[in-house]
Amino acid sequence: MIKRNSGFKNLTAGYLFPEVARRRREYQEKNKDAKIISLSIGNTTEPLPEFIAKAMADYSMALSTAEGYSGYGDEQGNSVLRAKIAEVWYKGMATADEVFISDGAKCDIARIQTLFGSKVKVAVQDPSYPVYVDGSVIIGAAGKNTGKGYKGVTYMPCVPENNFFPDLSKIKKNSLIYFCSPNNPTGACATKDDLKKLVDFANSNGCIIIYDAAYREFIRDENLPKTIFEIEGSRTCAIEINSFSKPAGFTGVRLGWSIVPNELKFADGTSVNKDWNRVMTTLFNGASNVAQAGGLACLEPEGIKAMKDVIDYYLVNAKKIEETLKGENFKKIGVEIYSTGNSPYVWAKFPGKKSWDVFDTILDKCHIVTTPGSGFGPSGESFIRFSSFGHQNDVNEACERLSKLEF
Ligand SMILES: *Cc1c(COP(=O)(O)O)cnc(C)c1O
Repeated sequence: MIKRNSGFKNLTAGYLFPEVARRRREYQEKNKDAKIISLSIGNTTEPLPEFIAKAMADYSMALSTAEGYSGYGDEQGNSVLRAKIAEVWYKGMATADEVFISDGAKCDIARIQTLFGSKVKVAVQDPSYPVYVDGSVIIGAAGKNTGKGYKGVTYMPCVPENNFFPDLSKIKKNSLIYFCSPNNPTGACATKDDLKKLVDFANSNGCIIIYDAAYREFIRDENLPKTIFEIEGSRTCAIEINSFSKPAGFTGVRLGWSIVPNELKFADGTSVNKDWNRVMTTLFNGASNVAQAGGLACLEPEGIKAMKDVIDYYLVNAKKIEETLKGENFKKIGVEIYSTGNSPYVWAKFPGKKSWDVFDTILDKCHIVTTPGSGFGPSGESFIRFSSFGHQNDVNEACERLSKLEF
């Protein structure tokens, strides 16, 4: 018989969100009347702006005509969309030939691991979005779990004590560094000075940064960088991964992109961009043309305005959650709140408590699903992530319940 990929054997804990869903289901089965509200998974809830949905509907209808039909699209994605992304979101800091259109950021993160193989060393922010580590485990780059995390992974604690920016000196030479800002789950947003330190470290130590900027459109502070390519030196050490999921509500539509600068090289001097093109054309056959038509509409002035309105809506929710968590009942048990106003997530520490215990308490007493911080890495223990993705009525109701919670 065929041997199982040993990466799967090494995968320890279940994926975080299925476990959250399991606990929710189990609770609902035992408590049929409970009206559960989710402040948990990072899934968008608000309808697509009509302008954007209509562009996709029109494109779809045109596919039924001889003139409007198209099959496989351009290599790397629709060339008009690639040029538009370079222009609107990178303002000349990237060129169209460095843009690769995909079916989303998570899929790109998984595929990009095939570029570096099973021998690469990995460093991640701790806590972090699970796919960086779990994907590395599956491909064989993370090794075994020692109980304190995977052997091949350097965990870089990002905690209130270091203002959520890690000690880079722990990173081994020639590592792949996953870095997400604004961060999921902490909501922390790196400054230009922070990113300059990261870029300088990477250039001096042979590292490549995989910069996940999925939440860039939530940044409201104009001094904060929206892309790693604002930082001098980044073009020789960074890849950016991004997505229409969070800014445009395309979590179901599926559309993302990556930027691989032409200057980025492997140790043998060959081009990373060229190999990435090879991966994308060999293992992936292009994003849906309907979704790409939607992406083009997003980047029209009307689409940009519509995206901003939806994000503002979620940011109002985030503010409401933050204020609720500042209430007397939370203060009494010493809860610390970390919210930047530049992210859909509110990160809260419950000192002396385990994340899953707080998760269970809030589910049981408030019928609210949250996300336990420990699921994002060892340094997430004692934290809870509250997500602002939800209808305002539901979030307001959840806040009402939370404001009455007694521990
Ligand atoms: C939601 C999310 C993604 C996934 O984006 P998709 O394009 O929907 O695959 C990537 N990175 C982070 C940090 C996310 O929170």
